[in-house]
Amino acid sequence: MPEQVQNHSVCIAGGGPAGLMAGYLLARTGIDVVVLEKHSDFLRDFRGDTVHPSTLEVLHELGLLEEFLLEPHQKVHQMTAVMGEETVRLADFSHLPSTSKFIAFIPQWDFLDFLSRKARAFPNFRLIMQAEAKDLLIADDDTVIGVAADTPDGPLYIYAGLTIGADGRSSTMRSKADLAVTDEDVDIDVLWFRLSREAADGDDMQGIFRTGYMMVMINRGAYWQCAYVIPKNGAEGLREKGLDAFREQVSAATGIPPDRVEEISDWDQVKLLTVKIDHLDTWHRAGLLCIGDAAHAMSPVGGVGINLAIQDAVATANLLAPLIMSEECSPEDLDTVRKRRQFPARMTQRLQTFLHKQVIYRTLEQKGEFKAPWFLRVVTTVPFLRRMVGRAVGLGIRPEHIDPTSIPVSRKKAA
Ligand SMILES: Cc1cc2nc3c(=O)[nH]c(=O)nc-3n(C[C@H](O)[C@H](O)[C@H](O)COP(=O)(O)OP(=O)(O)OC[C@H]3O[C@@H](n4cnc5c(N)ncnc54)[C@H](O)[C@@H]3O)c2cc1C
Repeated sequence: MPEQVQNHSVCIAGGGPAGLMAGYLLARTGIDVVVLEKHSDFLRDFRGDTVHPSTLEVLHELGLLEEFLLEPHQKVHQMTAVMGEETVRLADFSHLPSTSKFIAFIPQWDFLDFLSRKARAFPNFRLIMQAEAKDLLIADDDTVIGVAADTPDGPLYIYAGLTIGADGRSSTMRSKADLAVTDEDVDIDVLWFRLSREAADGDDMQGIFRTGYMMVMINRGAYWQCAYVIPKNGAEGLREKGLDAFREQVSAATGIPPDRVEEISDWDQVKLLTVKIDHLDTWHRAGLLCIGDAAHAMSPVGGVGINLAIQDAVATANLLAPLIMSEECSPEDLDTVRKRRQFPARMTQRLQTFLHKQVIYRTLEQKGEFKAPWFLRVVTTVPFLRRMVGRAVGLGIRPEHIDPTSIPVSRKKAA
């Protein structure tokens, strides 16, 4: 097949939240951007569904919020959980200093479709689906000068002044760049499956902690998307015990009657999602920057990974767009993104690791009557602390804002 060659100012590998938002923001300032996404669509159900107030604020600052909220979604103003037999409030978003005082639950493919639609409206933005970045193009002086990708039409070579690795937690870009990855010790995995939803089940997302079980059920209209947490590497043992035993556990954890849980008729319906937390100490090398999960893979705890990926994208555009435009983006400039975003990412990961160990793993190991950890019991009873948790989850550490001096390209053209 013939080779294709393209030249762009920026090439982004990965059309997830980090890649698409970075692509949108850079294109918005007039930079010529291409995003490569290896899949043919965004329709993969393992993606999280949580768009937090920090991301909604970014959409507000971009003038996109109103239209975004026309997409079917659920607003969650408080985070509640079932602890034993009691329903408790863990986080309160209603006092946040932001436009949206709620989490919008929206299937991530709808969010990514929305972002890509908006980005495609810029003439200088291109999204190439089914383009898998396989390797970096590297100049004699060791500078990354682009990406070699595979597409159904043959090999594609993209030459770019800056390459952004936003290709998620199994990033090809970071491994091809030889950026060292540090793995955190993670003691849980997740089983992911669907159960039909009935009106009597209620609407709200549910976090469930019962002796030996931890589950999250996300309302996706006709069905619950269920995340069933298991000890790391526990999937094989569970399968050996058989599907009947698993269905019994799901019924006991959720309170959904056994006949409805019979819908899980095959292990093929139950996908194992490996939970991973890792980070890069160095996010760049000359010509390349990694952001989002490619720089710091997040656990699902708190549903914050998408939002941290968006925050990285905002920081990247704020810090680098003017330099990219003047073709003066040095390795030191690329490192300013890490300097700004590493602390929020690492602190959030530390908190996730703490919750893995002190809440989730302990719940899975518990015997007898369910006992919530003391600090959760305190949080659930003190409104001020619930608001603090709401702020930490909803806005995160060091929330980013769109640079108010950046002028959208369409307005520039009109000017
Ligand atoms: C089980 C589980 C559940 C989670 N639930 C939530 C949740 O509810 N809320 C939340 O906020 N976070 C959640 N997270 C974390 C969240 O998914 C990530 O932190 C977030 O998606 C990171 O965004 P990203 O854009 O950096 O990477 P990703 O979302 O992983 O996007 C990377 C993109 O790059 C593409 N890609 C990969 N390799 C290549 C390549 N070589 N070439 C081209 N394209 C490529 C992928 O197809 C993908 O579209 C969850 C994580 C797990 C493991």
